[in-house]
Amino acid sequence: MKILLFGKNGQAGWELQRSLAPLGELIAVDFDSQDFCGDFTNLDGIAQTVQTVSPDVIVNAAAHTAVDKAEDEPERVRVINALAPATLAREAGKLGAWLVHYSTDYVFDGSGSKPWVETDPTGPLNVYGRTKLEAENAISESGCRHLIFRTSWVFAERGGNFAKTMLRLAQERDRLTIIDDQIGAPTGADLLADVTAHAIRTAVKRPNVSGLYHLVAAGETSWYGYARFVLNFARQAGVRLEVAPENILPVPASAFPSPATRPKNSRLDTAKLQSTFDLSLPSWQTGVARMLTETLEKNR
Ligand code: NDP
Repeated sequence: MKILLFGKNGQAGWELQRSLAPLGELIAVDFDSQDFCGDFTNLDGIAQTVQTVSPDVIVNAAAHTAVDKAEDEPERVRVINALAPATLAREAGKLGAWLVHYSTDYVFDGSGSKPWVETDPTGPLNVYGRTKLEAENAISESGCRHLIFRTSWVFAERGGNFAKTMLRLAQERDRLTIIDDQIGAPTGADLLADVTAHAIRTAVKRPNVSGLYHLVAAGETSWYGYARFVLNFARQAGVRLEVAPENILPVPASAFPSPATRPKNSRLDTAKLQSTFDLSLPSWQTGVARMLTETLEKNR
């Protein structure tokens, strides 16, 4: 099997380089790759890359993920997040290749408190969500065989992340206020990558699994709950924190005005993914604890 991976240096892309390697020949590119164009602002260039490589599977981990910044440059975001995936879908269709793509809980309007299922009505609140939804529609309407995984609150050990920011702030400040009215599931890029590899193995044998799936770790929390978990874990591991537990305070999102509106209910129901691919998704705490163990060991 020949796999073409776009966005190899992002959180998911980095882990996909590891998890996809055993499946066959892996050609991994980024926006500034020299051998093949991986720049999503160059639609002809990425079409040419697909035609030259002629893969069996295209995995797209590239995206414009700066949600607030996206509000200031909607046209550029649309090219990267919607038109480029649409181009990949068109090229995948011509080749008879699979397209694996990632989408987001931000396609929903965040109302209610029930986990969203794949067939629920969408209603994105910001530019990022609208462009990601446009990509989903373009891919499914293209007729190519595809796997679209909607995920949420992605973290990785490599690079910056929410947990590392909380650890730093808790060592600098004696009071922290954290958003408590947005609910979702922190999901490791490693989990995304491993499930992707498993799903590709299944899909090449069972083409009728083509479709849209929700893929997040099990359980749910708020950013406040996530921060408390991180700081409790650090304290138990012997990290000296400036902030006392009673001075970590929950606040509504309205306390932190931002250019992009974010959904309050980001819960995603993963039953379809688990039953189709015979998987059992681990709790978000399992993945966060593993990432924290690595982070704290590096900082010793
Ligand atoms: P990252 O931002 O870590 O990775 C995206 C990658 O795309 C980066 O390497 C980025 O490069 C690259 N990129 C940006 N612009 C271009 C361009 N013009 N051409 C080619 N590559 C470009 O994202 P994640 O790994 O976290 O996300 C993976 C997928 O999951 C995405 O589809 C995202 O929309 C989705 N998702 C992510 C969530 C999250 O919390 N992060 C939540 C829900 C869904 P650079 O870093 O240099 O800009």
